[in-house]
Amino acid sequence: MLDKLKKALANIEGLDLRYDHKLKEYTSFKIGGKADIFAIPKTKNTLIELLQLLQDYQFPFFILGKGSNIIVGDKGYRGMIIYTGELKNVNIEGTIIKAEAGITLAALANKALAAGLSGLEFASGIPGSLGGALYMNAGAYGSEMKDVVREASLLDYAGNEYIYSKEELALSYRYSILQKKPLIVLTVSMELEKGNKEEIKAKMLELNRRRKEKQPLEWPSAGSIFKRPEGHYVGPMIEELGLKGYRIGDAQISEKHAGFIINLGNATAADVIKLIKLVQDKIYKEKGIKLEPEPRFIGEF
Ligand SMILES: Cc1cc2nc3c(=O)[nH]c(=O)nc-3n(C[C@H](O)[C@H](O)[C@H](O)COP(=O)(O)OP(=O)(O)OC[C@H]3O[C@@H](n4cnc5c(N)ncnc54)[C@H](O)[C@@H]3O)c2cc1C
Repeated sequence: MLDKLKKALANIEGLDLRYDHKLKEYTSFKIGGKADIFAIPKTKNTLIELLQLLQDYQFPFFILGKGSNIIVGDKGYRGMIIYTGELKNVNIEGTIIKAEAGITLAALANKALAAGLSGLEFASGIPGSLGGALYMNAGAYGSEMKDVVREASLLDYAGNEYIYSKEELALSYRYSILQKKPLIVLTVSMELEKGNKEEIKAKMLELNRRRKEKQPLEWPSAGSIFKRPEGHYVGPMIEELGLKGYRIGDAQISEKHAGFIINLGNATAADVIKLIKLVQDKIYKEKGIKLEPEPRFIGEF
């Protein structure tokens, strides 16, 4: 079947294909094995054609943005990884900015800045794609995607397109309906406000300065490793238990911010999972709080 699928894939226009491809370089954690197939659609139509083909073959796939909120298993992924990084068109009309899912939040925030639009400053330092940000309802410094999203155009796994309103997207803390329904983000439409370019830029710089000061951005990581339990801050709790700097293999609880696990060089997914479990067990034992990992776990561990 694989040979037949490979032949059919080669006939799709605008599709870049790699076989047995290392995923490490496509994750911010720099961890993970290989994907059987790695596909990069260059246009929306290519993506739709690809989905239809995969549906015919009942071939498993995973949608990858910037890989900044995933932990890929050391044995990699059996199936196809579809990387959205080439889908990055942006259109601005008045205060409405509409962009394809693969654009980075940093690039999007810069486009908004150039157009004198305020509202995306909070996102400029989050190292994800727009699609991943909608999926996670990413947020920082008191703002989140929910504050700016109007609607999104989504594809189901057969390649049919739907428009979901903000309400239908059900955005809440690090959650969207995309985590429940098999849907792919194609474009997101956001409403911003007219603003002063100098002020927008100053706010972006200030937030990114604060981020750099607090977060271990000099090391690979997947950002905050646990979701924030209501009424508690994860970093200080971990610090209180004396776990700051604790290390398993090359995975370490950051000395700079205990809510982050960093990869000191050759950390494996297995190291990270052991460390996550250790923290979860200790926090539960000492505080009775169940910590839930924020990143998604992908592939074989
Ligand atoms: C140093 C660092 C700092 C961070 N700071 C923050 C922060 O301040 N706030 C915050 O909220 N997060 C933060 N994060 C986490 C992360 O950047 C966000 O969750 C981001 O939105 C993930 O986007 P991504 O493109 O990297 O998604 P990925 O990691 O590629 O994927 C995450 C999930 O989204 C899904 N997905 C991606 N694209 C699509 C699509 N087009 N359609 C459907 N599903 C899709 C994937 O299938 C996967 O399930 C940080 C991460 C790091 C490494």
